[in-house]
Amino acid sequence: MRAAWILTASALVCARAAARPPPALDPEDFLEKYGYLHQDHHIHNAVEVQAAIREFQWLSRLPVTGELDSPTLRQMAEPRCGVSDEGSQQTWAQRVHVIFTGKSRLANRSRRSAAPAEKWYKRHLTYQIVNWPQHLSPGSVRLAVRAAFQLWSNVSGLVFQEAPEGPADIRLAFYEGDHNDGSSNAFDGPGGTLAHAFLPRRGEAHFDMAERWTLNGHKGHNLFMVTAHEVGHTLGLEHSPVRHALMSPYYRKLGRSLVLSWDDIMAVQQLYGKPLGDRPVRLPGQVLHAALQEWEFTELQSREEIPGQPVYCRGVFDAITIDQNDTVLVFRGGAYWTVSAGGGAVGPLPLRQRWPDLPPAIEAAAFSPLDSKWYFFKGKRVWRYTGDSLDPGFPRKSSEMGLPHHPDTAFYYSPLGHMVVFKGSRYSVLDLKTLRQVPYYPRRLTDWTGVPQGTNGALTRPDGRLYLFREQRFWRFDPVKVRVTREGQWAGDLSWTGCSSSIRHSNTIL
Ligand SMILES: [Zn+2]
Ligand SMILES: [Zn+2]
Repeated sequence: MRAAWILTASALVCARAAARPPPALDPEDFLEKYGYLHQDHHIHNAVEVQAAIREFQWLSRLPVTGELDSPTLRQMAEPRCGVSDEGSQQTWAQRVHVIFTGKSRLANRSRRSAAPAEKWYKRHLTYQIVNWPQHLSPGSVRLAVRAAFQLWSNVSGLVFQEAPEGPADIRLAFYEGDHNDGSSNAFDGPGGTLAHAFLPRRGEAHFDMAERWTLNGHKGHNLFMVTAHEVGHTLGLEHSPVRHALMSPYYRKLGRSLVLSWDDIMAVQQLYGKPLGDRPVRLPGQVLHAALQEWEFTELQSREEIPGQPVYCRGVFDAITIDQNDTVLVFRGGAYWTVSAGGGAVGPLPLRQRWPDLPPAIEAAAFSPLDSKWYFFKGKRVWRYTGDSLDPGFPRKSSEMGLPHHPDTAFYYSPLGHMVVFKGSRYSVLDLKTLRQVPYYPRRLTDWTGVPQGTNGALTRPDGRLYLFREQRFWRFDPVKVRVTREGQWAGDLSWTGCSSSIRHSNTIL
């Protein structure tokens, strides 16, 4: 076991990340377009350019060097909102000032921040979807847009209503290329600028028709997230420098965390106050994601019914593992399914009926054949079960074990003889005997050649190959070759996921 570990570890160490091609953009054009440099004659001196780069780095949460270093150039190439970042820094400073002092104005600030905020002077606003994108049904678009507006009405004094026809306060439309708001607002095809919107009270949000808009899946851009951001602009919000803020200029996937950050909520409440009655409702991304999925399923089912297939087959799951009998377990929300070695799926079964004390949903799960125990991960904690009973001393803080919070994926990896935990661009290795991280970890995920970031689960099949999952796709990792050797659609291509045979519902447990 020890020799195998050293061999595999050294093979992993030798793996290198594929170099990313340099972004094809002119940094000065970018800085002009997004309000960091003036556009007069397109001539700037070195001091102006350096100041502009510093401001861009600050808003993008990069190290402020004033240099066009590679992280800065990479950040400029990220998909983003087309609205200028000009004034965002002052607006944010003012917002924070209000919290700490209770006073609404900063003294001796720029002319811009002294101007009254652009806002609507009514609380009930109507919206209209003017036209429709490709690849998404009108029903899905309507759901995404409704959910996006609801996100803001949940935390503010605003109320929104769709006006399918006639006049509307806020109009959402999809356009290709130049669409008569000036050449600097012309859309640029897939990637780059995704959408833009106007501050009140013009009431318009425009989306690039050429993007692949989606409600789930990592391919394409999530229409709900982008709409929610652009609606923020139509309400008067500018870009936020806060990490994880919805109003950050950069595209963010619908993840597991809360969609609105404290800064988004503070910004909208400073304009429109708190919601009437109940306290603000903030939904975690995971809940919204599941809700959007369910809505989209309903929409899909109305067109194409797939009878007898577990619901996870058409969407995502939170975690997956395999037990000592080669039964695959798939976890989603408060439910799980079992798929026997023969491929028959049973479920959904209530998660907490089998493993009491677990939270309502989990983020990662792994059965370890080493100690025949179940490990569940959620937030900052780890639960360990022997069979159905929680082991003494659990749940335990992941930080005590040297593990990251909110892991993407956990699995027992026999070539190492340890548990492996993925989180973003890194992975950790947990010694199950000491319950401590193995020395020299975490390391970069690029050790696992071909494995993408953000997987939602992984398991080792009886033949020793590791399968990793993300959205609808899977990656098969060969521990001998130390790289991915196959990719595909798990529901269609892997019979043992339980998606190709019919499901038996368990009446005894539910
Ligand atoms: Zn924006
Ligand atoms: Zn436009």
